[in-house]
Amino acid sequence: MFTVAIDGPSGAGKSTIAKRAAKEFGFLYMDTGALYRAVGLYMLRCGIDTDDEQKVSKNLDFVNVGLNYENGIQRVTLNREDVSEAIRKNEVSMAASNVSAHNSVRKFLLAFQRDTAQTQNTVMDGRDIGTVVLPDAQVKIFLTATGEARTKRRVLQLTELGQKASYETILAEIEQRDYNDIHREHCALKQAPGAVYVDTTNITLEESVNRVIDIIRSEYERFG
Ligand code: C5P
Repeated sequence: MFTVAIDGPSGAGKSTIAKRAAKEFGFLYMDTGALYRAVGLYMLRCGIDTDDEQKVSKNLDFVNVGLNYENGIQRVTLNREDVSEAIRKNEVSMAASNVSAHNSVRKFLLAFQRDTAQTQNTVMDGRDIGTVVLPDAQVKIFLTATGEARTKRRVLQLTELGQKASYETILAEIEQRDYNDIHREHCALKQAPGAVYVDTTNITLEESVNRVIDIIRSEYERFG
């Protein structure tokens, strides 16, 4: 199978770009952040402190996360309920960030991610795809942008979804999530060896998409 690993901090444009790239090549697109969000949502709903690893781990026994594809669009289920919209709520972002620091949660989601990439050509995005989940991916990309640029995009996205978003609050949250991702003990966010570094701060979305597609195409052609 041909696999593409795209990692980077929140709001760098990973999911939009990865989705477009997957469509271009007819690959499956897997947004792994959605899995952590679903786990975070479950814990939030149950009133479990998402920082408490012991409690979170115990409750994983009651969590069943699934992905379905409708016309190529990823839908996320939590214990069979479609939570694709619910996981996008802003309060779920921090819960996802907190639960993702626990090794038990990462182990819980690892096999699911690897199994998917074994059965079909896949573009997968996340934080540890090139380093941990798919270290043998044919293409690895580290996609990033400054915190300010990512905050502006996130505010726009939330406003479009009808959610309130102040620049200062979102910037603080993004900085906190970056810190959590970079400094956690397990599977911290870092550029994988051999990954191509793409900074989207000063380029448009179209330019970013084209750059990523070009990187994939040259490897895919060599792959045959
Ligand atoms: O990408 P997204 O912002 O939806 O991810 C939600 C949270 O899940 C992130 O803040 C990150 O901490 C975590 N995550 C992770 N590993 C991944 C994908 C997401 O730790 N592969």
